[in-house]
Amino acid sequence: MQFPWVEQLKGQLSSQLSQGRLPHALLLSGSKGVGKKHLAEWLARLILCQTPIRNGNVDSQACGHCKHCLLINSGTFPDLKSLESNDNIGVDDIRSVTRFLETTAQIGQSKVVVISQIEHMTVAAANALLKTLEEPNVGNVLILSTDNIDLILPTIVSRCQRVDIRPNNQQLTAEQHENHPFANASYLPELSDFESKKNHDQLVAHFLTWVTGHAAFVEFEHLFLSEAKGLIWLERLVSNIIREQHDWLKDEAIGGDLTEIIRQKLDIDSLHRIFQLILATNKQLATYAQVNETMAKQQFLVKLQRLVS
Ligand SMILES: [Zn+2]
Repeated sequence: MQFPWVEQLKGQLSSQLSQGRLPHALLLSGSKGVGKKHLAEWLARLILCQTPIRNGNVDSQACGHCKHCLLINSGTFPDLKSLESNDNIGVDDIRSVTRFLETTAQIGQSKVVVISQIEHMTVAAANALLKTLEEPNVGNVLILSTDNIDLILPTIVSRCQRVDIRPNNQQLTAEQHENHPFANASYLPELSDFESKKNHDQLVAHFLTWVTGHAAFVEFEHLFLSEAKGLIWLERLVSNIIREQHDWLKDEAIGGDLTEIIRQKLDIDSLHRIFQLILATNKQLATYAQVNETMAKQQFLVKLQRLVS
């Protein structure tokens, strides 16, 4: 799959690298399938390549045939470590990364670690990673990535250069537009539009009053089904509540009293289950063009009701 929207990011990163300004930690963020893995691999190879291809003043691409490139291709390059997991990333995984980074590079000048889906880190693992980020070794680069930046400790985010990967519809050809799962994905427009902000606030209010038992479900249901961005707004709201429950964030958008009421009504496991349900439904809608949106949203509501009651 092609990711035309990462080309600009490659340009920025390669000129940073060529000028010696690449930070020791990067955090790639974006939806699943948007090109994070592609960008992480491209950058890791470029950093480690002995004779990168030059474009003007900038090293723009690994050569693919130097000793380092060949070892990377065969998966035996000793100064590159990748951590990928669909389950939890535990504290032992992060400790192995720390140990790997503590020794000097065996072949080249620097070591590179790629950790994908860091939202799967346990709390202990996140704290261990934080320590590693606070004590960087010169020359080493950590390339982290996440499907959901809202689930990452702000203290981790703030220690990385953030690279947000977002598809840009204008960069797609007509054919790609039809076939690319992210071509029609909608992102939070930061709610700058007045009408949009009003609808957002209403939906959030109805959701919260329903969840806390102060209003009937039908009022929320009606609004939710008529609002195209409803699911994305809920995703943001629930992830903020989860972070607040973990004391990761004090969000002004959610009143302290309300959070306390939600805390009494829903435990953290239920919130996580609701969040997973939202993500799964969003993914379903973004991936399959033929999905009947109303039906998918109605099914979502049925499952949501079960989780809340
Ligand atoms: Zn090379």
